[in-house]
Amino acid sequence: MAKYNVTYACGHVAEKQLYGPMDDRQRYLAWAARSANCPSCRQAGADQAISDIEAEHELPALTGSEKQAKWGREIRAEKIAGVVEFVQKNRPATMTDEQATKFDQQYSAVMQLLYGRTEAGWWIDRRSAPGQEIAKAAFAETRR
Ligand SMILES: [Zn+2]
Repeated sequence: MAKYNVTYACGHVAEKQLYGPMDDRQRYLAWAARSANCPSCRQAGADQAISDIEAEHELPALTGSEKQAKWGREIRAEKIAGVVEFVQKNRPATMTDEQATKFDQQYSAVMQLLYGRTEAGWWIDRRSAPGQEIAKAAFAETRR
């Protein structure tokens, strides 16, 4: 094993520990130069994706320690996207206008409930829950 200064496709260089046969290391270096972004560009891309989801849904700031809020934002963005995907996938292809209105009202109620979850800890507690599960639990809660 050895440390390499890897040149990434984004043009940045970052130090990385590479393991295994020399061929594999060379292959990794060639691949990174051709098609991978460096860790800080990848992080910036992930931060941007979170900001995009927050803007799209007009999500409020999360409460908690700075560390919890940062982590909670990552999880919330992922789960909100998962809930949207689940709902879209389960939206019946054919509905009467009345059914469509009801579906959209229920969807909206679920999203409003989730938008109101502003404690970072609430999202962190659900980090392993799939979007489907969060959607179903929120739906059940709106029916109470
Ligand atoms: Zn970079």
